[in-house]
Amino acid sequence: MNPDAIVVGAGFAGLSAATALAERGARVLVLEARPTLGGRATAFTDPSTGERVDNGQHVLFGCYDETFRFLRRIGAESNVRLQSRLAVDIIDREGHWSRLACPALPSPFHLLVGILSWKALGWRDRMAALGMRGAIRGPGRSPSPGDAETVRQWLLRYGQTPRLIEVLWEPLAVAALNQSIDSAAAASFLSVLERMFSGGPRAAALALPLKPLDELYALPARDYIERHGGSVRTGAVASIECAADGSTAGHPALQVAVRAERMTARSVICAAPWHALSDVFPGRPVALQPILEAAANTAASPIVTVNLWFDRVVTERTLVGLPGRTLQWVFDKRAVFGEQASHLSLVSSGAEEVVSRSNEALVALAVKEVGDALPLARSASLVRGVVVREKRASFSVAPGQPPRPAATTGVPGLFLAGDWIDTGLPATIEGAVVSGHMAASLAAPEGP
Ligand SMILES: Cc1cc2nc3c(=O)[nH]c(=O)nc-3n(C[C@H](O)[C@H](O)[C@H](O)COP(=O)(O)OP(=O)(O)OC[C@H]3O[C@@H](n4cnc5c(N)ncnc54)[C@H](O)[C@@H]3O)c2cc1C
Repeated sequence: MNPDAIVVGAGFAGLSAATALAERGARVLVLEARPTLGGRATAFTDPSTGERVDNGQHVLFGCYDETFRFLRRIGAESNVRLQSRLAVDIIDREGHWSRLACPALPSPFHLLVGILSWKALGWRDRMAALGMRGAIRGPGRSPSPGDAETVRQWLLRYGQTPRLIEVLWEPLAVAALNQSIDSAAAASFLSVLERMFSGGPRAAALALPLKPLDELYALPARDYIERHGGSVRTGAVASIECAADGSTAGHPALQVAVRAERMTARSVICAAPWHALSDVFPGRPVALQPILEAAANTAASPIVTVNLWFDRVVTERTLVGLPGRTLQWVFDKRAVFGEQASHLSLVSSGAEEVVSRSNEALVALAVKEVGDALPLARSASLVRGVVVREKRASFSVAPGQPPRPAATTGVPGLFLAGDWIDTGLPATIEGAVVSGHMAASLAAPEGP
C-alpha cells in the first residue's frame, strides 16, 4: 500500500487524525509501537478473573465536542453513556453522602442552583460560590489568572471557602488536571471550567465509557481506517527522518522507518507523546530543535488506579467522589460494563505521593478508604486487588513549564498531534482529539 498519510501513534490523537483523513478519502497507514492500540486510554485482560480492566477509569464530559464528533464518525457514540446534566454523588471525610445535581436551566444558573441546593455545603460556602461568577465568564471573556498563579491561590482570591475547595473545586481540578491544586496553573483549570459551565447543562454532564477503553474507540477506529483502504500496524516502533534543510530535492524530505523498512507519504503526523519525541526523531532535525527541547523539559504527573474485587456487591452507585481522600473516586464497573465485570476501580489522580508505594500498600489503602466511605465494604472480603500505575499519565500544567508546540512544525508535510499540543486544554481525551483533528485539517485541507 502506498499511503497518502502516515500517522505515528494510535492513541486518541493518532486515531482521530487518521479517521479524519480517511473520511476525506486519504489512504492512511497508522504505526503503533505497542502490541495494542489506545495508548494511555486502553485496557487489558486480568489473567486471574478474565475481566477486562482499563488502564485507568476515563470520564468524558458533554463539552467534549470533538471527541463526540470522532466517536460518531467511527460509529462508537453509543459506547458512552452521557448524563442529561451533571449529577454526582460524594461521600465526604465524615462519611456523609450528598448529591450535587444541576437542574435543566441555562448556564450558569444550572450550576448555581445545583450548588445552592447541595447539602454538602453550608450557607457561607454557598454564598462564596457565587463569587466565582466573576472568575468564569465564558471562553475569551474571563479575567486571566496570573501567569504564576496556582489553582488554590486563584480560588482563594475569589473567596472560596475551605469546604467548597475540598468538596467541589479540588476534586474537579485534580480530576481534570491530574495535578495538585497547589502546583497546577489556574489558567489550565479555567480553560476546563469555561467549557464545562458556559455551554448549557449538557456541557458539564459526565459521560462514562460502557466498554473497556480499547473496545470503546480504538478497535472501531481501526475498522473504520481499514474500511477506507488504510491499515493499522501494531508492534511498529517508528522513527521519522527529515532532510536537514526540509527540502524535497533529490529524495523525499520525510521518511518513516520501522526497523529496516522505509516509507514515505505526502503527509506524516507524529502523534506520539511528548516523552517519546526524542526517539521518534533520532536525527534531531534542526527545524524541530525548540520542540524537542520543550518536550524533553516537560514534566509528567502520575495516576494510580487500584482495582478491587470483593466477595459481594458493596455499592449501588455507579460513581462516587471521595473528596479529601487519596483515592478520590470510586467506580463500580459492574454498574458501568454490566455483569461481565465485578470490580471497583479507585482512582488517585495527581498521585506523586503514592505512586512509589508497593502494590500491597496501595491495595490496603484502597480497602481502608473504600471501607471508610461505603459501609457495605467493611463486612465484605477482598478477593483480589490489581494496581495500575501510569507514571506519565499527563504532562504537568505547573506554571513555568515549557511552551506547548503548535501542530505545524516548519517541516513541509510534517505535523504534530497529541494531548500536549497547544490546544489550551490540559491532558485530556478532548485535548488529544482536538489536536488530531487539527493535524488532519493541516495535512489534507481539501482531501488527500
Ligand atoms: C490512568 C489515566 C486516566 C485518565 N483519565 C482521563 C479522564 O478521565 N478524562 C480525560 O479526558 N482524560 C483522561 N486521561 C488522559 C487521556 O488518556 C490522554 O490525554 C489521552 O489518552 C492522550 O492521547 P494521545 O493520543 O495524545 O497520547 P497516547 O495515548 O499516549 O498515544 C500515543 C501513542 O503513540 C505511541 N508511540 C510512541 N512512540 C511511538 C513510536 N516511536 N512509534 C509508534 N508509536 C509510538 C504510544 O505507544 C501511544 O500508543 C487519563 C490518562 C490516564 C493515563
